[in-house]
Amino acid sequence: MRKKIIAGNWKMNKTPKEAVELTRMLKGLVDTDKSDVVFCVPAIDLIPVGEVLKGTNISLGAENVYYEESGAYTGEISPSMLKEVGVKYVIIGHSERRQYFAETDETVNKKVKKILEHDMIPIMCCGETLEQREAGITIEHIRIQVKKGLRDLSASDAEKVIIAYEPIWAIGTGKTATSNQAQEVCHAIRTVLGEIFGDTAEKMRIMYGGSVNGKNAAELFTMADIDGGLVGGASLKADFEKIVNY
Ligand code: PEP
Repeated sequence: MRKKIIAGNWKMNKTPKEAVELTRMLKGLVDTDKSDVVFCVPAIDLIPVGEVLKGTNISLGAENVYYEESGAYTGEISPSMLKEVGVKYVIIGHSERRQYFAETDETVNKKVKKILEHDMIPIMCCGETLEQREAGITIEHIRIQVKKGLRDLSASDAEKVIIAYEPIWAIGTGKTATSNQAQEVCHAIRTVLGEIFGDTAEKMRIMYGGSVNGKNAAELFTMADIDGGLVGGASLKADFEKIVNY
């Protein structure tokens, strides 16, 4: 039985002061052990948010990391820096990073390996554009992203990785994939995971992300291959409670 996981992706929102206020407001609403709950916050908010989360079941997550240990990489943050401040999960390969910051399947793969080396859990994102969906190449595209992102991983490492299926046309647009559309792709992801890692695929968690809200969460999260959600906009509001307690 796979434990559900619901992660908020705050993106580039909330100053440290605002982040502390939001965390204080949300923590009483979403502190549960029924599902894994994660707040993925901007790097500058990690330390103060981590302080407020102490003593709760809510985990701290980062939105990115660099794949080198240290050195002349101005502006980047290393895996040990994240680990030291209590980060447990790291989002990798979000479509916004692929679109605006030149993230590729190759850099995603390097980051996934580094995160695992440092005993953190990668949440590796994949997803198709509207053009790819309309051209009928969604599954093909997702299979490539998953294979390249997880290249050279052992089954025991892969087991720790979480895949987030996020159709790009559904992110921040208010257009959610139907539960059947989301299930179809998440099932295809589990199939490709099975081809690479065998039975381990059944233990791996696959999340859906894209305009999840308090109204659609239950239907999405109860589909056979959907093990929770990556939530953008709605994770910044009290509505996040309805998603976590779907
Ligand atoms: C996201 O940022 O990963 C996301 C799914 O955003 P939203 O929920 O706002 O569509």
